[in-house]
Amino acid sequence: MDYRLRCSRCASYSRDNTRFRCRSCGSVLEVEYNYRSLALPDNFRSLRISNGKYVPFFPVESLRAGLGEGGTQLLQRHMRITKGIKLYLKMETKNPTRSFKDRGSSVEITKALDFGFDRVVCASTGNMGMSIAHYAKVMGIGATIFISANANKAKVAKIRKYGARVVRVDKDFNEALRKAEAFALSESAFVCGDYHFRKEGQKTVIYEILEQMRYDVPDFIFVPVGNATLLSAIHKGLMEFRMLGWIDRLPRIIAVQSEGCDPLVRAYGRKSRISYMVPNTVADAIAVGYPTFGTQGLMALRDTRGDAIRVPDHKITEAVRLLGKEGIFAETGGAAGFAGLLEMRGWKGRLLEGKKVVVVVTGNNEPRGRIWS
Ligand SMILES: [Zn+2]
Repeated sequence: MDYRLRCSRCASYSRDNTRFRCRSCGSVLEVEYNYRSLALPDNFRSLRISNGKYVPFFPVESLRAGLGEGGTQLLQRHMRITKGIKLYLKMETKNPTRSFKDRGSSVEITKALDFGFDRVVCASTGNMGMSIAHYAKVMGIGATIFISANANKAKVAKIRKYGARVVRVDKDFNEALRKAEAFALSESAFVCGDYHFRKEGQKTVIYEILEQMRYDVPDFIFVPVGNATLLSAIHKGLMEFRMLGWIDRLPRIIAVQSEGCDPLVRAYGRKSRISYMVPNTVADAIAVGYPTFGTQGLMALRDTRGDAIRVPDHKITEAVRLLGKEGIFAETGGAAGFAGLLEMRGWKGRLLEGKKVVVVVTGNNEPRGRIWS
């Protein structure tokens, strides 16, 4: 689709489509489409779901770096612990590198190739780095990954196995992000990560959920939040399907963070802007002290009459265990959405009674031993 990049804060347009932040104010950019240029095939609704199906909704001509991501199962589950709730689990652990990140990587790496870059750089707590490293390797371009101090060791080993160069940063994700962005400018590398193009790839999680539910809109959708890219992508995808007249109402989005890293929950509760906090949680995949798409994430919650929930780490590990008993394997960050559902059921159970609830199970890359110990 035809697009322009527009600053999410000062609303100025970017003349250079390879930019990753607004030149004037440094904020994140948004892909703004000319929806009149949207061209869908007549049989669109009957095509099998996958990221490739949604190319008309992307800022690319074709998905050159599509590696079979998306098309993940939506499992309907009856569990004793969620009795009375119509529960659906969106299994993002079934993507090529076992997390939802692959949906965004296919679009970002396609853009890197289209712009003629031969290397990419990104900051990561683990899953992002694995995904980018895999996509870069398959597409034959170099990758440098800046890793935060709290990154999971097993994930770092996998990033190296994919052939990427790993640079360890002594501090948290936000410091890794600063280093990666500086590297991009000095080394002419294309920046991947939680930026506008990734967000476009990640919209497809909600497209697929709606298609799998035959456009019968769920009442609630629980989403783990680190950088809030997925949260804000889900919001954008919902708006697009509503604009097309394919849905006539919105699910309430419930953002879930760990008690040890909950800047979005705090800002939502105080109706304030997001403030940085030092992450301290076992859920490394969502250990982000200042979410890049935080402001957009808060807007998603307001627009959908959603909510933001914090859960203690021990309840996240308990959620991992409970899912595991059902044969559903997720890492801590990946099970945070389910932990949020159990938490909300504890104090607002009646609100969920008889409702259709989707939980996005975002990833499964931690070694089992750590979780079961
Ligand atoms: Zn700006």
